[in-house]
Amino acid sequence: ARSVHQIQSGQVIVDLCSVAKELVENSLDAGATSIEVRFKNNGLDLIEVQDNGGGIPPDSYESVALKHYTSKLSSFTDLTSLQTFGFRGEAISSLCALADFHIVTAQADQVPRANRLDFESSGKLQKTQIVAGQKGTTASVEGIFKRLPVRRRELEKNIKREYGKVLNLLHAYACISAGVRFSVRNTVGKTRNVVVFTTNGNPTTRENIANVYGAKTLSALIPLDLELEFESTGATRRTGSDRVNQILVRGHISRPVFGEGRQTPDRQMFFVNSRPCGLPQIAKAFNEVYKSFNVSQSPFIFADFQMDTNAYDVNVSPDKRTILLHEAGAMIESLKTSL
Ligand code: ADP
Ligand code: MG
Repeated sequence: ARSVHQIQSGQVIVDLCSVAKELVENSLDAGATSIEVRFKNNGLDLIEVQDNGGGIPPDSYESVALKHYTSKLSSFTDLTSLQTFGFRGEAISSLCALADFHIVTAQADQVPRANRLDFESSGKLQKTQIVAGQKGTTASVEGIFKRLPVRRRELEKNIKREYGKVLNLLHAYACISAGVRFSVRNTVGKTRNVVVFTTNGNPTTRENIANVYGAKTLSALIPLDLELEFESTGATRRTGSDRVNQILVRGHISRPVFGEGRQTPDRQMFFVNSRPCGLPQIAKAFNEVYKSFNVSQSPFIFADFQMDTNAYDVNVSPDKRTILLHEAGAMIESLKTSL
């Protein structure tokens, strides 16, 4: 019988994108400067994320996969000024419930020894084993959704599309993460270790975009640098913070080509405080502005909205992917004017 834990876990981890998002964010939270993501059969058999971050301290081995264990929230007030991606301690516990999950981790002073940690589906530490390893953490998810058969069949049916989505998400992380080297590989059938894309640990998002999308795409881009200012309409007025009305928009957009122009790839990435997220209303606003100038192409957009953490809420869905912008209406009007 399916346990309550499995059902709840299926709300935190809804698809391949959730798996990649949670593991990559844990690596970034751990201060990694190099992240390798490995897929087997597009993620159906394996999704594995290796980082060179700080590693997990031995006294946390027992607890890392327990529900609500997190090392990132020192007090409740931290929630309003959150700097790390994670804070709920639900991802690893959910992955244990939904797949075969293990970790290999080492802190700097343990190298060349590392510890392999195997977990039960409840998140209880099953066994530890000393193995060879480098500084950092590798988290391996084998057979995602094997314990939720309907979800598993659905994923198998749509694997091409789901794999495409997860690559787009990884492109977004790789482009926004200046100073972090990304490498993504996939092994399908008998092919071995096919490199899907890499970035070189560049200091700028521009160079990351060149690595991911090619120099040609880069040459068609101009910098996006806007400062939005607008009246608060209510939701955020209560917080008494006036900074919520100021938003910086930083990034890169394709140079408008009027009439019949050269097509740039249809790539649109949005971020809030450097966190990749879907912002459909904002995407619509950008596309409407381009259209209104009779621009034929669909624009390349890489836009990071930098704003006060009071201006939005990431806690609206268990998978934390939906971001609620309290002043979406006023913000979009201001954005359209500025563009
Ligand atoms: P959260 O990220 O919300 O704290 P997770 O379930 O994603 O919760 O992870 C639980 C804990 O495991 C983290 O708080 C962190 O201490 C540890 N952890 C997970 N992944 C890594 C990693 N790649 N490097 C170092 N520590 C990690
Ligand atoms: Mg996490």
